[in-house]
Amino acid sequence: MNQKEFALPSPLTEVQHSCLKGKNIRLFIKRDDLIHPDISGNKWRKLQLNIEQAIQRGNDTILTFGGAHSNHIAATAAAGNKFGLKTIGIIRGEEADLENPTLGYAREQGMLIHRISRTEFREIGDWNYIESLRQKFGSFYLIPQGGANFYGVQGCMEIIKELPFVADRIFVGCGTGTTLSGLALANKAISHIYGVSALKGGAFLRDEVSANVKKVINDFETEAFLMEKICILDQYHFGGYARISGELIAFMQQFYQETGIKTDPVYTSKAAWALIDFAEANPPTEPEKWVLIHTGGLQGIPAMEQREGMKIYPDC
Ligand SMILES: *Cc1c(COP(=O)(O)O)cnc(C)c1O
Repeated sequence: MNQKEFALPSPLTEVQHSCLKGKNIRLFIKRDDLIHPDISGNKWRKLQLNIEQAIQRGNDTILTFGGAHSNHIAATAAAGNKFGLKTIGIIRGEEADLENPTLGYAREQGMLIHRISRTEFREIGDWNYIESLRQKFGSFYLIPQGGANFYGVQGCMEIIKELPFVADRIFVGCGTGTTLSGLALANKAISHIYGVSALKGGAFLRDEVSANVKKVINDFETEAFLMEKICILDQYHFGGYARISGELIAFMQQFYQETGIKTDPVYTSKAAWALIDFAEANPPTEPEKWVLIHTGGLQGIPAMEQREGMKIYPDC
């Protein structure tokens, strides 16, 4: 695979934020948002090895799943186009708007969009259901929703391996927990890692990560050490998945003004908020290095702006 145009290892930017002043914290942002203009953030981390597998196994088509505004759908469509693979996106909800920014973009990239009902979507983890898709679409390489398989986890291990120092604390936004699982596995059992749930009821993330770690490590002592370093913060969903508030938008705008870095409204903005909140409640007594993983997701901003009828970043 020719991957020259991917900015890897992704840059690490040190930033100043007024809320962290005098708190013994140096804040660094791992810029996975800069990996690629169309296949950004943790989506490329999760796709990379899957695409390699698809090509090596001789598949010419990738099939995957997602919601109507899914960053994973947009990224898979772009990656398929780039590496000469056909892509099929099975989308949750028959009413999903084919012209919305994400699905419109995915179709432009050549993805075949197939919308199914929410009831049918609940079956996507079922073997028989996948077989029925093979009857319908022919053979394909399957990538689960959100890129949540072992190749996805393995790709995300690179994020922490690329850090030039051992961070004291790492914050990351979570949906499926795949990225967090990669961080947990590649942790040298030193960094405290905070998974900030984008969904209401994010406690499931701990089981998800623990199961992924168990499968790979196969050693309960090491698993326990690694899991001790994982903390799920599930009170920063702002009402639920993809919900936002005026306060959150104001925070994103201030964060952009102070650091020059845009965050997305669904994941990284909430993770950044959680980090600042955590710093205010728990300022370290010794100097510490904290890392916020910018998992990307900026492609979702236009759709959010459309939905909310406002501009998040009005000056650009
Ligand atoms: C998909 C996504 C996540 C969630 O990643 P998981 O591995 O599913 O937990 C986080 N941030 C952004 C920007 C995303 O697009």
